[in-house]
Amino acid sequence: MKNLIVLKFGGSSITKKEENKFEMNNVILKQAASELANALKQNPKLKIALVCGVGPFGHTNVVKYNLNNGINNSVQEKGVKITNKDCDFVGKETAKALEKEGLKVKFIPGYEICVQENKKVKHFELALYKKALANGEMPLSTGVMVPDEKMKWSVMSGDTVIAQLAKQLRPEKVLMGTDVDGIYTADPKNDDGAELILEINNKNLKEVLKKAGESKAMDVTGGMKGKLEKLAEQLNGVPAEIFNLFIAGNLKKALLCEEIKSTKIDL
Ligand code: ADP
Repeated sequence: MKNLIVLKFGGSSITKKEENKFEMNNVILKQAASELANALKQNPKLKIALVCGVGPFGHTNVVKYNLNNGINNSVQEKGVKITNKDCDFVGKETAKALEKEGLKVKFIPGYEICVQENKKVKHFELALYKKALANGEMPLSTGVMVPDEKMKWSVMSGDTVIAQLAKQLRPEKVLMGTDVDGIYTADPKNDDGAELILEINNKNLKEVLKKAGESKAMDVTGGMKGKLEKLAEQLNGVPAEIFNLFIAGNLKKALLCEEIKSTKIDL
């Protein structure tokens, strides 16, 4: 789709994921919302489909209620409800921050459009996305638990939504904001010698996947490695860029195609 950018606000940036607190990171959320609004003012042709990671609002609940391997009892059923209410909270708080900047947002909960089978997407319906974009609204979804034909409910990560949108909407690019500058040769939070990988393509993908680790924070969806694996399956030529959402100016520049420190992915 022309002029469309699929954008992710990572859970590690808009929530207190590393501290494992059920709290939004309102400083980063406000900064990101304001940069997004400014970029859209400078380029009114841009369309954005936004996906939010949910950090502890998802991961901690999934571990607490044991929701990652099928739902078999009423305690787990209750856990699914609590988890989805918490994930919706992240979506609604993000929508509020964007609306304060004058943007029109359409919150689309993942459990209304996606059905999985054994944790893998079976249907992902984009009619609501297309309608919102045609109406000049910004569709917004989060990672969340969705119906699963084999397990009753299973986790659908924000990264899965990104991969589906990339595959089905064929945006001009995918931008993923997180709490580090991109993908490194090792987890930069654990290894001082980690070096930023400036570009990932079919030549170095395998080698990078071997090195990319999981998230330092609690993450049931695979952290940086899971992200890259999902992108590798679905990008099919759509360019992607992973960058640091904590650094002021990065998001606006990335949206307006200016150079920033990042990892560019071309698969
Ligand atoms: P988000 O919640 O923003 O989607 P994740 O927590 O899933 O992000 O992934 C980002 C985290 O991945 C970083 O905070 C970092 O500690 C960890 N990580 C592990 N291995 C790597 C790597 N090779 N390069 C960059 N980050 C990595």
